[in-house]
Amino acid sequence: RSRAQRVNGERVGVRFSDVAGIDEVRDQVEEIAAFLRDPQRFKAFGARIPKGVLLSGPPGCGKTLLARAIAGEAHVPFFSASAAEFVEMFVGVGAARVRDLFKRARAQAPAIVFIDEIDAIGRRRAAIGGSGNDEREQTLNQILVEMDGFDGKDGVIVIAATNRPDILDPALTRPGRFDRKITVPMPDVRGREQILRVHAGSLPLAPEVDLSRIARATPGFSGADLANVMNEAALAAARAGRREVLPEDLYRAIDLQMMGVARPSLALS
Ligand code: ATP
Repeated sequence: RSRAQRVNGERVGVRFSDVAGIDEVRDQVEEIAAFLRDPQRFKAFGARIPKGVLLSGPPGCGKTLLARAIAGEAHVPFFSASAAEFVEMFVGVGAARVRDLFKRARAQAPAIVFIDEIDAIGRRRAAIGGSGNDEREQTLNQILVEMDGFDGKDGVIVIAATNRPDILDPALTRPGRFDRKITVPMPDVRGREQILRVHAGSLPLAPEVDLSRIARATPGFSGADLANVMNEAALAAARAGRREVLPEDLYRAIDLQMMGVARPSLALS
């Protein structure tokens, strides 16, 4: 990210049409985008204005992509931070970073603040004493303070992502905080086909490529895995000096992806 993007937020070009499987959550995300486009109008109607949205689902299934698409559709700047980075910082730095992040977003409002891997700081506090991680707690508290401190008309919506919603501190999901929940699940066979289609985009696929067959051959693949498969297949076709992506390019890319995925779990067993 450039300095300008950090300060002014990123202008993203991602649209809902770039996110496969969006139909399941379309109403929810449309509403958020509509609010960001015109916060005053919502306020005039006395509508309940969302402040925080929690996106949950397995890694690589499009949480970040969806958050970016909301910003793209609403034409608002996107400010992002990874909660995991906050915990690695020196004591006091995380909270200061959060304050700074919200200050910048408010200055550019309407805007989206996106916090990835919120579970890194938002874990439920240990029931019995335990060794509290001060940095983590201070950073989390600062996020809550920021959210409690603004009201809807500020036009800042905070979107947090996690693949461990089960371990989150209930303080995070209280009304007025991350009280909107959107699940971004692992794609099923139809979802996989849609994702493949999005990523096939303008690639020259040979007529004998059947994406529904590819979808059936990729159970357990995430959106990120499928994007990778498409990309690898296109690279292989280019390396072979062909103008078209053939089915075997795709099947080989699937095998490569499976080997890559299999390695860590093999090491565990
Ligand atoms: P993580 O938890 O690992 O951060 P994530 O859920 O935020 O993962 P993304 O970073 O949004 O996942 O997805 C990675 C990439 O995978 C996207 O940039 C996109 O190329 C592809 N992808 C994932 N899901 C989808 C989807 N539903 N439609 C289209 N592309 C997708």
